[in-house]
Amino acid sequence: MKTVKEETQSLIKKDRDHVWHHISQYNDKSNPIIATEAKGAWITDHNGNKYLDGMSGLWCVNVGYGRNELAQAAYEQMNQMAYIPMTQSHIPAIKLAEKVNEWLSDDYMIFYSNSGSDANEVAFKMARQFHQQNGDFSRYKFISRYRAYHGSSLGALSATGQALRKYKYEPLSSGFLHVAPPDNYRRPLGQSVESYNVQRAEELEDKIIWEQKETIAGIIMEPLITGGGVLIPHPIYVEKVQEICKRHGVLLIIDEVICGFGRTGKMFGHMHFDINPDIITMAKGLTSAYLPLSITAVRKDIYETFKQNEDNSHFRHVNTFGGNPAACAVALKNLEIIEKENLTERAAVLGERLQNELEELKNHPYVGDIRNLGLLMGIELVEDKDTKKPASAQRVGKIISDCKAYGLIIGKNGDTVAGYNNILTICPPLSSTDNDLDFIITVLKKVFKQNES
Ligand code: PMP
Repeated sequence: MKTVKEETQSLIKKDRDHVWHHISQYNDKSNPIIATEAKGAWITDHNGNKYLDGMSGLWCVNVGYGRNELAQAAYEQMNQMAYIPMTQSHIPAIKLAEKVNEWLSDDYMIFYSNSGSDANEVAFKMARQFHQQNGDFSRYKFISRYRAYHGSSLGALSATGQALRKYKYEPLSSGFLHVAPPDNYRRPLGQSVESYNVQRAEELEDKIIWEQKETIAGIIMEPLITGGGVLIPHPIYVEKVQEICKRHGVLLIIDEVICGFGRTGKMFGHMHFDINPDIITMAKGLTSAYLPLSITAVRKDIYETFKQNEDNSHFRHVNTFGGNPAACAVALKNLEIIEKENLTERAAVLGERLQNELEELKNHPYVGDIRNLGLLMGIELVEDKDTKKPASAQRVGKIISDCKAYGLIIGKNGDTVAGYNNILTICPPLSSTDNDLDFIITVLKKVFKQNES
């Protein structure tokens, strides 16, 4: 009989032989965690090692692992009715649309798909069609920001502002333009955060004007740039962008794929600002990743224009799995948990604690900046605090692997091409216990202490 260790080795061999991993290319020196079980914030691997998942998977398991109610909701719905396409309708889809609308500050129509990328593709197509229906046939371009990530499919990747993710897959969709986001830590010396953020918004307006405003269909942005390195704007930036959009007839698409469903300490990230988006995309935390589901929420008045056409020009988009009944049932239950357990408020409280407890790391020789909104934190590592030269890949990698050795998984984000792949990210489940948070804090402090030189 094989020992557990031998079995693990054999699984790793088979994994190397057959499984093509996302993003990472595992080699003989690095193995993936072969996870077998997960409960709360913790994952157990095949050898019985336990890890606190400080990234909630890919920023998505908001209610934590092992929620029996979610498994039960999927089971019951699959038994009742496993599938019906969204050309028809079903009760979980109706209830979920109603529920999501309860949380939004305006009336939205809910279009279901499977992933964050899908939801953004739908947003782009809807925006283009909306303008066409209004007789604005030249509005087809989208502006997004450098460092932003909006998905892996060709349109969503075109909107993405990280060159390294794109350059081997070109040509991408045409009509996607980029401007620099506010990166407050790296703003010019002596400039106030507020004036810098106003300047960044004005640059976006310049782009609209230089490109000829009648060609711009929409702006897409996250409430804060997450994967690009946790770049939190001053509210004046976001509010000014909305005002610019309105002035130039451009739709504002807010990507809530990561920031939605409590992550930032409000139900949706854009609720930190005084804005009223035209289109909102959601995924990840919608089901806490128990099943795939995403939403493109479109303000009612925009939707109404799709009904006014007499030439049968409805929105010609369908996806087979979008709005799957079991996924909608799981989402409903997931949202019920978020509400019942006050997880949005909990994210705000835990986020504040994390920020206070880690404040002392700002004295560490390689910590340039620590920033968070709710339970979504970025720690920017630098080689030199005066020049702010981004920390080397080795330095960042060492901290991550030392954390893993103590049983804590954290992420690394930013933008490789610009040299800013130096931001550690911490984004544990919103349901993390106080002890879980203590664990994260203790490990981080210990690891930073042993990486002072
Ligand atoms: N938008 C944002 C902000 C994301 O972070 C992601 C995924 N990390 C996506 C869109 C794409 O989502 P998916 O991977 O579900 O296609």
